[in-house]
Amino acid sequence: MVKVVKFGGSSLADANQFRKVMRIINSENDRKYVIPSAPGKRSAEDIKITDLLYRCYETASKGEDISELFSKITERYNGIINDLGLDLSLDEEFEVIRRSMIHKAGRDYAASRGEYLSGIVLANALGYKFIDAADIIFFSEDGTLDTERTNEAVSEILKKYENAVIPGFYGSMPNDTIKTFSRGGSDITGSIVARAVEADLYENWTDVNGFLMADPRVVKNPLTIGKITYRELRELSYMGATVLHEDAIFPVRRANIPINIRNTNHPEQAGTMIVSHSDSYDHQHIITGIAGKHGFSVITIEKDMMNSEYGFGRRVLEVLEKERISFEHLPSGIDTMSIVVSSDSIEGRRERIIEKLNAAVFPDSVSIEDDIALIAVVGRGMKNAKGTAARVFKAIADAGINIRMIDQGSSELNIIIGVSENDFEGSVNSIYQEFVH
Ligand code: ASP
Repeated sequence: MVKVVKFGGSSLADANQFRKVMRIINSENDRKYVIPSAPGKRSAEDIKITDLLYRCYETASKGEDISELFSKITERYNGIINDLGLDLSLDEEFEVIRRSMIHKAGRDYAASRGEYLSGIVLANALGYKFIDAADIIFFSEDGTLDTERTNEAVSEILKKYENAVIPGFYGSMPNDTIKTFSRGGSDITGSIVARAVEADLYENWTDVNGFLMADPRVVKNPLTIGKITYRELRELSYMGATVLHEDAIFPVRRANIPINIRNTNHPEQAGTMIVSHSDSYDHQHIITGIAGKHGFSVITIEKDMMNSEYGFGRRVLEVLEKERISFEHLPSGIDTMSIVVSSDSIEGRRERIIEKLNAAVFPDSVSIEDDIALIAVVGRGMKNAKGTAARVFKAIADAGINIRMIDQGSSELNIIIGVSENDFEGSVNSIYQEFVH
């Protein structure tokens, strides 16, 4: 059995967290390949190493002195090394990095050094081989990951080592400069490595017990989701629930490798298992999770006999396309069509959009309603359970809330509901209570 284990910034914030990480790795022989992030925040007011590095880069590019900022970084690593009692000095590395920063080695290079150094420290502490991600993770000229070349290189090198530490978040460009993924990108490195070594499991260790059924800022103590499919996860993430970088899903999904979200501070918890499909409907509740997004507007177009007019929808969407506005949902009735768009995307252009729609389809009326929040109720169990939609709507109605829009995804995996921003929390809570208690 081979497990690839990725640890997030909070799991490596200080020596104590490093110790927890080492204990987790050493407690199972299967945990063979380790992907560390850069040390994260030790407290709410603290600054992540990655953010300090970005600041250093900005300061250096203005030609200003970086000594003070840079010493904050070296102190963090030296503190961890000393506290762990390691026989390791990063002084030479620090000097190379400091000099490269002053010589403007690039923003991504600067940011990537957090993971690079963290990888050296962790490899030393574990007695594992350190493999620089720049030698095995490759981007193409256009900045996208060179998937196949990377997969071959990672797989090739890791065949030689039973255990290794590979820093997350970065790789190299064809001209050998460093490039990072977007923020939170160590998740992607972990996923790439898991695919390349054909791992049985990709463990992603963070500071929460897993994926929660609802946002804990909205619902008090929501339950952790035990098992979720990639598609459900995508629906929930799209609607604002985040634990994992979105792009981390593709490499392992392709290879059918499950991801297990785990808590470094509570390794006794089983966490959330993300799987490609789950035939057995083993979740205790019909719904898997609820997520929501704010700041939407609904453009409603009404016209008698709309449904018999050829090309009506196309002409409406063409107006949006020409304005470069993308739409989120398109619930339609017989004589009405509603288009849900983000309010930001139409800001300052409302009059023009209305005029253009009037000219394109001669509707009876066009209106724009703002302050809409969208709620997604997601669950693979909904397809087989009769009356789920009715239960969702009844729960909201019983809370005295007016539903402004409904859209059921054709996959029967989700129901999307639009409510006033003011009713968002009440709606999410009433749906949660209906299904969980
Ligand atoms: N350290 C990087 C960040 O803060 C990448 C990561 O942690 O995954 O975004």
